[in-house]
Amino acid sequence: MTRRVVLIGHPVAHSLSGAMQQAAFDELGSDAKYELWDRKPMELADTITELRGDEFLGANVTIPHKERVVPHVDRQTEEAHATGAVNTLTKEGRKLVGHNTDVAGFVVAPDKLVGKQKMPRHAVVLGAGGGSRAVVLGLIRGGFQRVVVFNRHLHRAEAMVRHFGKSAAHMELRAMPWHESIIEAELIKTKILVNATSIGLSTDESPLPAEILRPELMVLDLIYAQTRLLRDAASAGCRTADGEQMLLNQGAAAFTLWTGLPAPIDVMHAALIDARAHGIRSTEGEPDGSPVDDAPAGDA
Ligand code: NDP
Repeated sequence: MTRRVVLIGHPVAHSLSGAMQQAAFDELGSDAKYELWDRKPMELADTITELRGDEFLGANVTIPHKERVVPHVDRQTEEAHATGAVNTLTKEGRKLVGHNTDVAGFVVAPDKLVGKQKMPRHAVVLGAGGGSRAVVLGLIRGGFQRVVVFNRHLHRAEAMVRHFGKSAAHMELRAMPWHESIIEAELIKTKILVNATSIGLSTDESPLPAEILRPELMVLDLIYAQTRLLRDAASAGCRTADGEQMLLNQGAAAFTLWTGLPAPIDVMHAALIDARAHGIRSTEGEPDGSPVDDAPAGDA
């Protein structure tokens, strides 16, 4: 029986995950097929029921279902519970287990960004959506002592800070209003800036003016492209990294959960680069997979 793994999202037409996961199954000689399932929110319950069939190994879940899927799973892992979002499903017989591999995917990224330098303990995070929750949990677990979250809608950042209350009891986790002067003042005290907003994904815009980026900053953008923020930061002399490591490592963690095997990460990385070179922009059900005329090619 050919085993099936599906990506459930809306839209999912051009997914980098599809290329990366199929390459991994092929490399290990598995006949498993990774399928892209475009399902609207109203179709989610039936879709989840279908997944309980024996031929399914599991699934990835993406925008807009990462939070909606939570009530449909039989059990959640600690990361899924802590972030309130599920991006990977595995099976225990007919039961479904919800995981959040974005957390494991993110934690690799600061190490690569910082390199041989000492890991800073303060970070500024822009955004308070699902990606940001994985980032903030990764920073809390990574021993950061002060993390400040800025979000356009402050109440969402405040809700996140409340949500992480207990896990962050040993450190300072704060939500602050999105004012350039306040962000600038915080950036002076920090060395790590993470963009977890979708600003720069489908337009060539930056969440911050270039003038407030100091060369000491290390800037990580979750978006898998050379965004305007990353280009401005590089021009200011900052070290920079895009969302490639997070995307790759969340995918590798999911692959291992489905198969019990170490992920062929080099093969997955090569497939990711190849898919991008062929014009696939969307990581996982991102709002729009179409190319942006005024944006650069964006390869890592
Ligand atoms: P969500 O939709 O959950 O959150 C989007 C965030 O962006 C919110 O904080 C939202 O603010 C903010 N935002 C959007 N537009 C604007 C704007 N015009 N001005 C100010 N803030 C804005 O998305 P995710 O958290 O899932 O994803 C966020 C980004 O991270 C995406 O670009 C996604 O591609 C990337 N990502 C990458 C991953 C990877 O593996 N590399 C993994 C996960 C995400 P508000 O709450 O005020 O609306």
